[in-house]
Amino acid sequence: MTENVVDIGFLDEKESWLLHPRFFPSKVGGKPAWLDLRNIPAPSELTCNQCNEVMIFLCQVYAPYEEKEDSFHRTIFIFVCKNGECCRPNSANNFKVFRSQLPRKNDFYSFEPYKEDQNETFPMDKWPKLCNVCGVKAPSHCAKCKKEFYCSRKHQIIHWQKGHKELCCNSNETDNSNFIVTEAAKSLLFKEWELIVDEEDQEKVKHVDENQEMEKLKHLIKEKKAGTMSDINESELEEYTGKIPDDKVFNKFSKRIARHPDQVLRYDRGGVPLWITAQADNIDIPKCSYCNEPRQFEFQIMPQLLNFINIGIEINSIDWGILAIYTCNKSCNKGPAYKEEMLIKQDLSN
Ligand SMILES: [Zn+2]
Ligand SMILES: [Zn+2]
Ligand SMILES: [Zn+2]
Ligand SMILES: [Zn+2]
Repeated sequence: MTENVVDIGFLDEKESWLLHPRFFPSKVGGKPAWLDLRNIPAPSELTCNQCNEVMIFLCQVYAPYEEKEDSFHRTIFIFVCKNGECCRPNSANNFKVFRSQLPRKNDFYSFEPYKEDQNETFPMDKWPKLCNVCGVKAPSHCAKCKKEFYCSRKHQIIHWQKGHKELCCNSNETDNSNFIVTEAAKSLLFKEWELIVDEEDQEKVKHVDENQEMEKLKHLIKEKKAGTMSDINESELEEYTGKIPDDKVFNKFSKRIARHPDQVLRYDRGGVPLWITAQADNIDIPKCSYCNEPRQFEFQIMPQLLNFINIGIEINSIDWGILAIYTCNKSCNKGPAYKEEMLIKQDLSN
């Protein structure tokens, strides 16, 4: 049987200004590089189903449907709740996924690609203000200077404590650089990376020792589990993690990713997810809530991403095996500018 050609994603360091929306980036962490700049979701649409707090940006994947005029530009955004207690096994309640798309000719971006020029200005005054801290739509502002904008009281307080207290009304400059992560936000947001997507090698890579890679992955997962279960003793942990490896699906998973151990994304529109464990049959994927067409699998986020985003902030308790994203197979243009899509979180335990 021949394999599907799958694209896989890796992370790379990139200067923040090069991840601006005008470059249509795929990226992880930092602030969202919104596509449609007018109809950005309100904080109330970005709240966690468990705790009701505003979630933060995890990653976005630029994935145009080039054959469709109205999705010449198309990006999928994923948000997650930072509160680790909202993370439950095999539940996606602490995640939200949105799809946004635009024709080539639109109100926001030029028809031709932008040059990579740092001095090029990109006026934002026509569009809704964004939160200084997390980059989501900001309905409120600093009552004193009226120059800084916030999604929530919580983020206003963070900004005040981390420097705005001194600068408010004393400076003509605003700290709001829209898509650039401000000092105040560094401890709150995930570390920012460019997500580079490329074709997976078709053949097994000779120089990679699959067994060794599999052991590494098991180890990584054990460590992750240990991090989330610090209050249980060693033997309980052994019992818990000991269940992980003896699973055909997991072995297939490990072998396949051994070709590129650092992959954080697998993109296979219309394909099937590479499940991390069995018990994934009979998942009922609801139809698109806007056009009622079936959803199809589009891509999955890999557990390796957890190794890259937790630098500097405490998110030990956020965890997943894989995150499988399902989207409208017509990529329809009905409903709001940011259409909610479907995420399945599969963990190694249940
Ligand atoms: Zn939550
Ligand atoms: Zn905010
Ligand atoms: Zn102020
Ligand atoms: Zn649809």
